[in-house]
Amino acid sequence: SMKILSILGARPQFIKASAISREITKRKNIQEKILHTGQHFDANMSKIFFDQMQIPKPDWNLEISNLNHGAMTGRMIEEIENILLEERPDWVLLYGDTNSTISGALSAKKLHLKIAHVEAGLRSYNMKMPEEINRILTDRISDILFCPTKGAADNLKLEGFKNFDCQIVNCGDVMYDNALYFRKYSKTPNFSKPQKFILTTIHRAENTDDSQKLASIFRAFDKIAREIPIVLPLHPRTKQKLNELKINISNSNFIIVNPVGYLEMVNLLEHCSLVMTDSGGLQKEAFFFKKHCVTLREETEWTELVDNGFNIIAGNIETNIYDAYKKMINKNSNF
Ligand code: UDP
Repeated sequence: SMKILSILGARPQFIKASAISREITKRKNIQEKILHTGQHFDANMSKIFFDQMQIPKPDWNLEISNLNHGAMTGRMIEEIENILLEERPDWVLLYGDTNSTISGALSAKKLHLKIAHVEAGLRSYNMKMPEEINRILTDRISDILFCPTKGAADNLKLEGFKNFDCQIVNCGDVMYDNALYFRKYSKTPNFSKPQKFILTTIHRAENTDDSQKLASIFRAFDKIAREIPIVLPLHPRTKQKLNELKINISNSNFIIVNPVGYLEMVNLLEHCSLVMTDSGGLQKEAFFFKKHCVTLREETEWTELVDNGFNIIAGNIETNIYDAYKKMINKNSNF
């Protein structure tokens, strides 16, 4: 039988892993063990996904979080290596583009273990993003690259991956599997949700680590919330930055809540009028739930959505965000 060791650390990885674990548990000849690095640890950023999405309980939790990139990846590499040495899995399964992903890749490859990378081939072509560095390096040393889209597979071909000793598989998007599977379990969130609202999230370092940009985005939200309520499940990193910068918005139409579980997120996606986000996953989920999206970044990995007119790249300047909102808000009726 085949032994797989999955390495997870952050919310989008738990969500992706749920789609794969659902399949693995159906197959008697495959055994999966799960290593949680601890990168995301708050109950509403971690445990809730294991509970709601039936992900098997992690076999290890390294509890490595809240460190700078060097310290975090360094410690993860060291501890993951110890576990891999003991377990010697046939495959190490990695997801996405976080520090947990790159740490797992380096630990596994140097022990000559085989790596499968789920959500391979995505590129923003912005080398200032930690995620871009993590995904490029992980892709380069992976043995199987599972691409969510044809565009992702094409990116790898353009980078010469055909010449490398690896296999590229365009298998489709596991996030779509989840959207289809979990929509029937949609759960009303425990706060009072307005009739009509815009669903927003903000957490990318490029927005949270730049006080000007963060302030500009929140000014735009404040202005938009005077026209239509905004619901913002607030990521802990963004919450911390807003506190540090003393940015606080008192606008009863701007509803800031704690991060929600995936089932509540599905409910918000079903009922919202528009999505505004810097999240990669949420941009696609907007489309899966037939909602338009304003992306609060300078570029996106999911260019298909922009080409099709379902997504608009607004950046982080207040007026550009407001204009993009105006352009997209009335579009959903004719999706
Ligand atoms: N998500 C969630 N609850 C929230 C915010 C996001 O379940 O409060 C889900 C969202 O639906 C998507 C995933 O988390 O599936 C996106 O994760 P995140 O925005 O952290 O990362 P990214 O997609 O940018 O990698």
